[in-house]
Amino acid sequence: MAAESDALVIGAGLIGLAIARELDRQGVRATVLERGQAGTESSWAGAGMLAAQQTAAASPLRPLALASAELYPDFVAELERETGVSVDYRQCGTIVLAGGRQTHFDDHCVDNRRLTAALIAAVRRRGIRLIENCAASAIAPQGGAWVVETAAAPLRARHIVIAAGAWSGSLLLPGTRPRKGQMLAIAAPPGLLRQVIVAPEVYLVPRADGRVLAGATVEDVGFDTKVDAAAIERLRAAAVQILPELARFPVAEAWAGLRPGTHDDLPYLGPLPAYPGIWAATGHFRDGILLTPITAQLIANLILGRSPGLEIAAFAPSRF
Ligand SMILES: Cc1cc2nc3c(=O)[nH]c(=O)nc-3n(C[C@H](O)[C@H](O)[C@H](O)COP(=O)(O)OP(=O)(O)OC[C@H]3O[C@@H](n4cnc5c(N)ncnc54)[C@H](O)[C@@H]3O)c2cc1C
Repeated sequence: MAAESDALVIGAGLIGLAIARELDRQGVRATVLERGQAGTESSWAGAGMLAAQQTAAASPLRPLALASAELYPDFVAELERETGVSVDYRQCGTIVLAGGRQTHFDDHCVDNRRLTAALIAAVRRRGIRLIENCAASAIAPQGGAWVVETAAAPLRARHIVIAAGAWSGSLLLPGTRPRKGQMLAIAAPPGLLRQVIVAPEVYLVPRADGRVLAGATVEDVGFDTKVDAAAIERLRAAAVQILPELARFPVAEAWAGLRPGTHDDLPYLGPLPAYPGIWAATGHFRDGILLTPITAQLIANLILGRSPGLEIAAFAPSRF
């Protein structure tokens, strides 16, 4: 007999964790299933820019991005209160350099590794079941519910949320693909950089300990996560061009992660038409950290049978 919950969330990145927490807040008993360790993939690898105002005016993503940015201050404040984990959310502003001009945006940033740690803590404190080192391998219908096969016991739920990031392609969402990003952190002292800077070759993001993150490549190389010294050096040199003082400080860390991409760079959000009770919450590509609060809210609304609260037709998983 498969273990039963109201909702089974596949993937413990920012998206899956935030959805499980939101469901729990609204009285839906969720289980989270994670192939590896929670929060160690794209949500760990990202830069944490919350680039809502920079979203193109004509993009269907813009209303979603703005709505999520608006949720951020309360989302973070409640999460910090709930867990005691500070996530370094900064209403710092962003300078975009292009064509010899500087444009200022009221866009913010967050330390996504801390945010992920806070969501894991919240999930644990709430007693939400988080099963790590256990991949979902198949989903099959069973008596009005769904059963997810794993290497351990099968898991049964009325609702399944696919939040498996770049790997969602193997779970009923074949349009999802990995988009590799490499980046580095420079061990600068606190206060050297106070805003986010975005330029054509590189962007710079401040962290509480002074580190300056410089990113990122966008590469279509499958599931490869090797760090390439030449790519990192190109990013470092571009960072020094923008902020010459960075040349004085060593590279603290370089890494790569896999963004969940889709065929049209828009997320898959909502019901899978042929699979009642299965919901897509993936494909957030370069904006998954920004879109975490709104995704949690709208997927919880859908599971509870309410209106999503926003127009989501452009994100229908059936469109690929
Ligand atoms: C270099 C880089 C820079 C970025 N910068 C930004 C930024 O500045 N701002 C921003 O908003 N976004 C940014 N992003 C994008 C952002 O990180 C992602 O969109 C977001 O983290 C996606 O979250 P997720 O939970 O969907 O994916 P993930 O964090 O990848 O989580 C998916 C989880 O699902 C698990 N999983 C996969 N398959 C299975 C399975 N079969 N069974 C169980 N579990 C499974 C994985 O192990 C993983 O833990 C960046 C990404 C990268 C790589």
